Amino acid sequence: MGTMVQPKCKCKHKFKNLNLGGGFSDFKKSCIVPLPCFNCKDVFGLNILNKKHLCPKCRTRSTPYGEISTNPSSNPLVFDWGIDFETSSTYELEDKMYTCPVCKQEELSFEVIGFFD
Ligand SMILES: [Zn+2]
Ligand SMILES: [Zn+2]
Repeated sequence: MGTMVQPKCKCKHKFKNLNLGGGFSDFKKSCIVPLPCFNCKDVFGLNILNKKHLCPKCRTRSTPYGEISTNPSSNPLVFDWGIDFETSSTYELEDKMYTCPVCKQEELSFEVIGFFD
């Protein structure tokens, strides 16, 4: 089951909703996570399992928000996704402020607005 989130920033830029995670059938091959693009000034959904982390629009290399860890975070999470159960690798998006690609301030957070299959 995936999670729908709304990126929100103090600068009030209207970001689109993002569907994070993936479907049950492809959960081992797909984990959509938020990727900021400072060139397009937007946040996109990117499969973190792709070898290259490129903006889907302008192909600029970027770094997704959140991280893959084998050590569960003790901080509150907006979203997490089991990537490999054998090594217990989990993608985690902490509930904190991230750098906004529009105003470049550390004021961007994610709000969960729903779930999807
Ligand atoms: Zn871009
Ligand atoms: Zn902003």
